Amino acid sequence: MDRYDVVIVGGAAVGGAAACFLAAHPQFDGRLLVLEQDPSYQHCATARSVASVRHQFSTPENIRMSMFGSEFFADAGTRLAVDGQAPDLGWREAGYLFLASEAGLPVLQANHRTQRAEGAAVQLLDACALRERFDWLRCDDLAGGSLGLRGEGWLDAYSLMTALRRKAQSQGTVFRQARVTGLQREGRRVAAVALADGSRIGCGTLINAAGTGAAALARSAGIHLPVQPRKRCVFHVRSPARTPGCPLVIDPSGVYFRPEGEGWLCGVSPPEAQDPPCEDFEPTHALFDEIIWPVLAVRVPGFEALRMQQAWAGHYDFNLLDQNMILGAHPDIDNLLFANGFSGHGLQHAPAVGRALSELVVHGEFRSLDLSRLGWARVLQNRPLRELNIV
Ligand SMILES: Cc1cc2nc3c(=O)[nH]c(=O)nc-3n(C[C@H](O)[C@H](O)[C@H](O)COP(=O)(O)OP(=O)(O)OC[C@H]3O[C@@H](n4cnc5c(N)ncnc54)[C@H](O)[C@@H]3O)c2cc1C
Repeated sequence: MDRYDVVIVGGAAVGGAAACFLAAHPQFDGRLLVLEQDPSYQHCATARSVASVRHQFSTPENIRMSMFGSEFFADAGTRLAVDGQAPDLGWREAGYLFLASEAGLPVLQANHRTQRAEGAAVQLLDACALRERFDWLRCDDLAGGSLGLRGEGWLDAYSLMTALRRKAQSQGTVFRQARVTGLQREGRRVAAVALADGSRIGCGTLINAAGTGAAALARSAGIHLPVQPRKRCVFHVRSPARTPGCPLVIDPSGVYFRPEGEGWLCGVSPPEAQDPPCEDFEPTHALFDEIIWPVLAVRVPGFEALRMQQAWAGHYDFNLLDQNMILGAHPDIDNLLFANGFSGHGLQHAPAVGRALSELVVHGEFRSLDLSRLGWARVLQNRPLRELNIV
């Protein structure tokens, strides 16, 4: 049986980032393998993401991870260069704008205080200031907004994933196409992974970066991971409207839009009662017709004449407890590290999570950023660490 010091299951953003940071760690000289079932990456969340980055979270850890993410993306030309060739991630720093009605203002203000305390460059604008700054935005029903001034924006997720993989490979990581059918446990350890072709690979440490496939892997090792696939739809639209300086705007209704090419991307999370676990990738067009379009038509003059160009659906790996990731080892298994349940904000957190996983492997603890509140303890004790700013 072949054996690697570290085996990562899942080779998209999180698995790729973990491989990159671990391979580059000066105190790691082990053999590193990434197992990915689908080299086309067509269904993974990474490839279907809106790929946007915000510092405007309510949890200090999420804010800090995003701040590291934007630093990493801005500097990717250096960090992810291979043989002098710098990747272009299409990083565009255009900000996020969270809008609030009178009722939503106290939450916006509370989040603002947390974000400022963590060092995020965010500014509160009242309705007048909003109108002045974004003259294409209808503000009559708004009490204010929170605008990211630096470090927020979006990038090309596929380019990020490819660049992470290339960099990790250039540092000696092996990427192999294989579907892991289960984890073979011996007492408090995972001894090996079983592959669909019937072979096995031994591991020193196993990292579960399998996105919506993570719960099945955990189950095979006797662990219940409370993560389910939840469908999220994205619509690419065009309109005669002009929105100069448009950030990623989040309406009080939860509907969001941001520029993309000649048009805009937009979406909304479905109402909870219409958000079952799912398998299919069919876009839910009723969301656009019944929720998104009516909101956008009111919010931006010209958006009443939206024309849809394209729609797709992807799956959030949705943490049922609190919509935050579950990071690190389960108390029953010593050598299995989880990085799952990102619930829609895992792309921007991938660099921070990759760095954190490399520290857990090498040092057995977090060194750069203490993410221990995101570990299994809260899950097992049913103590949610709620993120209030979920989009
Ligand atoms: C519509 C949508 C919009 C989003 N927008 C944003 C956003 O704006 N900003 C943001 O930060 N995040 C966003 N996200 C979330 C973000 O995309 C994810 O959190 C992130 O990409 C998760 O990366 P991952 O590597 O953990 O999982 P994935 O990208 O899902 O990758 C998991 C990989 O594991 C592989 N795998 C699974 N099981 C196995 C197995 N048994 N054997 C081998 N391989 C396996 C899969 O093939 C897959 O390639 C969005 C997600 C969606 C769906």
